Amino acid sequence: MIRVLVAGAGGRMGATVVEAVTAADGMEVVARVDPQLPAGDGVFGDVATAIDAVHPDVAVDFTQPAVVFPNALAYLAAGVHAVIGTTGLTAAQVDEIRAQADAGEANVLIAPNFAVGAVLMMRFAAEASRHMPKAEIIELHHDGKLDAPSGTALRTAGLMQGDPVVHSVRLPGLVAHQEVILGGLGETLTIRHDSLSRESFMPGVVLSVRRIGRRPGLTMGLEPLLFEE
Ligand code: NAP
Repeated sequence: MIRVLVAGAGGRMGATVVEAVTAADGMEVVARVDPQLPAGDGVFGDVATAIDAVHPDVAVDFTQPAVVFPNALAYLAAGVHAVIGTTGLTAAQVDEIRAQADAGEANVLIAPNFAVGAVLMMRFAAEASRHMPKAEIIELHHDGKLDAPSGTALRTAGLMQGDPVVHSVRLPGLVAHQEVILGGLGETLTIRHDSLSRESFMPGVVLSVRRIGRRPGLTMGLEPLLFEE
């Protein structure tokens, strides 16, 4: 049984992760961490206290850009494998997380998007940009999202040729959506992905929890788990 800590368990994503891990075979939630949750059995206000109390195998983090970095260092320092979905980490912070993972026993996966369709969208956009290098990205999210541009848009742009401009839309009613529009001579190509509910991220999260113990160091994105194994 993989024993899982869920950080941000009271949030939109974290609550869905608690349900998905509970429903999945071979894993269980042993700690829910969130200052928003009322104190109770298996509920903690911070990750350090939770790790000391339950010694989880894997931590899944869907918290906030402001706390994900110290959380990540705390997981690794305690020897707990980490699956990080929280966006907003800087390149320098990712470098430090990589160094700590390489130096220690615990592994870490950082993915801006756990939806299989979104991973495919990024792959297709990267391929298309080799032939149509003029492109722009429009990412659209619910108005509770704290960071802009989205981590998915930044990763997509990083994979594409031609340094595409990113536009961000924040509106109620949306979940997570992205359009990549490529323009050529007398033609355009549009690649669009829509996460219509947060369940779209769960197969990727559950797969990552299952596999992270066997992937030393830092894994960036869900792609290596989907395409290279
Ligand atoms: P949310 O609803 O605001 O949930 C975040 C929760 O974390 C809140 O309840 C927050 O409490 C709590 N929190 C804050 N500090 C914490 C700490 N130190 N330890 C534990 N919990 C803490 O946000 P969300 O919509 O679920 O999104 C969470 C993150 O996931 C965002 O960065 C978002 O961009 C990202 N995301 C990633 C994916 C992906 O596939 N990778 C998909 C969707 C979203 P307070 O309200 O008190 O701060």
